[in-house]
Amino acid sequence: MKDNQSRPRNPRTLAVHAGTRRSQYGEVSEAMFLTQGFVYETAEAAEARFLNASREEFIYARYGNPTVAMFEDRIAAIEGTEDAFATASGMAAVNGALVAMLKAGDHVVAARALFGSCLYILEEVLPRYGVEVTLVDGTDLDAWRAAIRADTKAVFFESVSNPALEVIDIRAVADLAHGVGATVIVDNVFATPTFSRALELGADVIVYSTTKHIDGQGRCLGGVICGTQDFVRKVAEPYLKHTGGSMSPFNAWVMLKGLETLDLRVRAQAEAAERLARAVEGHPKLARVIHPHLASHPQQALARAQMERGGTVLALDLAGGKDAAFRFLNALGIVVISNNLGDAKSIATHPATTTHQRLPDDQKAALGITPGLVRLSVGLEDADDLLADIEAALDAA
Ligand SMILES: *Cc1c(COP(=O)(O)O)cnc(C)c1O
Repeated sequence: MKDNQSRPRNPRTLAVHAGTRRSQYGEVSEAMFLTQGFVYETAEAAEARFLNASREEFIYARYGNPTVAMFEDRIAAIEGTEDAFATASGMAAVNGALVAMLKAGDHVVAARALFGSCLYILEEVLPRYGVEVTLVDGTDLDAWRAAIRADTKAVFFESVSNPALEVIDIRAVADLAHGVGATVIVDNVFATPTFSRALELGADVIVYSTTKHIDGQGRCLGGVICGTQDFVRKVAEPYLKHTGGSMSPFNAWVMLKGLETLDLRVRAQAEAAERLARAVEGHPKLARVIHPHLASHPQQALARAQMERGGTVLALDLAGGKDAAFRFLNALGIVVISNNLGDAKSIATHPATTTHQRLPDDQKAALGITPGLVRLSVGLEDADDLLADIEAALDAA
């Protein structure tokens, strides 16, 4: 992309072009540099590169790779952050962002409603290394206010929680955190880069599992940490490149191609998700339908203010509990039973017995993970076909 205009580019344009590096052949589609190493012309050149490599000089794929650099620059351009570091999975990004900046004696405040593996890092890993962690109800600003202290170093939350779709006020929590100089780390997977401008709302570091919407076709694991150049290159990169959390060039290539169609895919998926949520809300077999942009969502106003669309996921709470949820899942014909989300294929998940099985019952209840809860990630199938499938499965439930 030539820089021949002063007009700032739209994220959709950036998603197609930003970060592209062409080889001497001038290929149109991004090249996959499937190499872990790089040849130096001379011993002196090797020495110089180890001493101080520029962004266009590579040493070893754990440190960086041209295809991975294209992906990092492209997602940073879309998010509006100065830089990004691509990781082997979403969890490598969450763990990397937290562990790289924390040390024994530090204090972290996090929302309790978290993806199971995120909760493992905050509840099990960080305390083992002397980091004090306070978990709060993320939707309760008074709880954040009470928990954040003068010595709090970081706050962490999912802007939309998995699986009960609680929405956290990024700007309000960021203001509280910045009042004590703490770093705001937001896991923005459910909100997606398309619908959320987390940076403008005050997030300092934004992490994604690119396994979800950015790949969008269920092929590869990946993650990314977006932030300032100082955070990405001086804090996150040294930790990740030396501990093995880097993204593979092959996966970076898949993610690059995924970014090109991200906006189109998630807009279509979000439109279908909202339509399905409205269509089944009030169904006699359902105790509750959860979707951030439904009027019945307790934080609908906040969700509308901070997310352009409600996202691609909804949750259905079957009134008949686990048995009804299982009958519903087993009767689905198009929607598959699995645990990814953001995929082109619609996926239904029973969190209580799969992704959140590890949690004790009282914690499940506190997070809204009832026995009847089914998380539905809406894909790219025809929305009428999906609605017919879901209605038939509700009849069977
Ligand atoms: C899936 C997910 C992760 C973990 O990502 P992986 O790519 O599976 O490691 C982290 N946070 C949220 C909110 C997720 O949905």
